[in-house]
Amino acid sequence: MARYQRPETLRQALTQLHDNPNETVVMAGGTTIVPFLQPNDDETVLLDIGRIGELKNLICESEIIIGSAVTLKEFLTYARKQENPVLGALYEVASHIADPTIRGQATVGGNVARGGELATILLALDAEIIVESLDGGSRRIHLKDLLLDPGVTALGHPDDLLIAIVVHNQKYDYIHYDKFTKSHLASIPLASVAVAACDRDIRVALGSHRLFPERLSLVERRLVERDLTVPTGWGQLGGLVDAEVFALTDDSYHNHIIHVLLERALMGPPSEVNGQ
Ligand SMILES: Cc1cc2nc3c(=O)[nH]c(=O)nc-3n(C[C@H](O)[C@H](O)[C@H](O)COP(=O)(O)OP(=O)(O)OC[C@H]3O[C@@H](n4cnc5c(N)ncnc54)[C@H](O)[C@@H]3O)c2cc1C
Repeated sequence: MARYQRPETLRQALTQLHDNPNETVVMAGGTTIVPFLQPNDDETVLLDIGRIGELKNLICESEIIIGSAVTLKEFLTYARKQENPVLGALYEVASHIADPTIRGQATVGGNVARGGELATILLALDAEIIVESLDGGSRRIHLKDLLLDPGVTALGHPDDLLIAIVVHNQKYDYIHYDKFTKSHLASIPLASVAVAACDRDIRVALGSHRLFPERLSLVERRLVERDLTVPTGWGQLGGLVDAEVFALTDDSYHNHIIHVLLERALMGPPSEVNGQ
């Protein structure tokens, strides 16, 4: 059975990770990691970061800062009171993740580290993450850079801990999130799409199609090159979406779902997309 540690401070957690990077596994809410623990594994040290106060920040000023060990339930309680549109968009996504029992355990950081639904919308919101290790110190990384390499979760250093997620608290003309879930029961979606538009910038993120969400940079560029005040013709854009999506996944069922989600996201009322 894995050994268990529950540090009270960030320093203690970083020291454990620094001294034993290979056998230490970070556990936040444990909803993803615990089912994969092997009963005969007595090498692994399970580092429970759920009690560390420094990872529980919730701030809504010029930047929105969400500590990595904040549970989805804690986040929802906070976001509901803020009347902030960016938090409102994140609230909508978080409130439909899993079920209330899982949301009481699962953390925002765990969801982002696993490339879950929050990672998809945070990618469209161009979020940054704060990571820290004893050797590397504290650094900010754009989520899009972190998720660039599908299948690689490494935060940079093997002993990096995800400290917090940072989102600019700015005015958006349009924020949209949609997903397709196979069962009506709470489960990880088959595909999800997030779009965020502000000024002349538009970001499109695709989630759940692979291990980690990704930005659709060709589609984004095309949308920006076209005058966003002109409703976009799906005829042309649809072909481009298919080309970019087909390069990511060759499953035609999956592609069809993504196509429908993107069409709904981008062809929504032009006034919404254009912020008019
Ligand atoms: C029944 C069920 C339904 C689910 N439904 C959904 C769903 O609808 N949508 C969805 O997106 N997900 C879903 N999930 C997946 C998962 O529960 C969530 O993504 C959850 O937010 C993960 O958070 P956690 O705190 O439990 O992560 P953990 O299991 O504790 O950790 C997940 C991973 O992240 C790493 N990690 C966690 N915190 C940090 C940190 N601070 N620094 C570095 N690494 C870290 C861990 O080492 C581990 O690899 C579901 C899971 C279950 C069991």
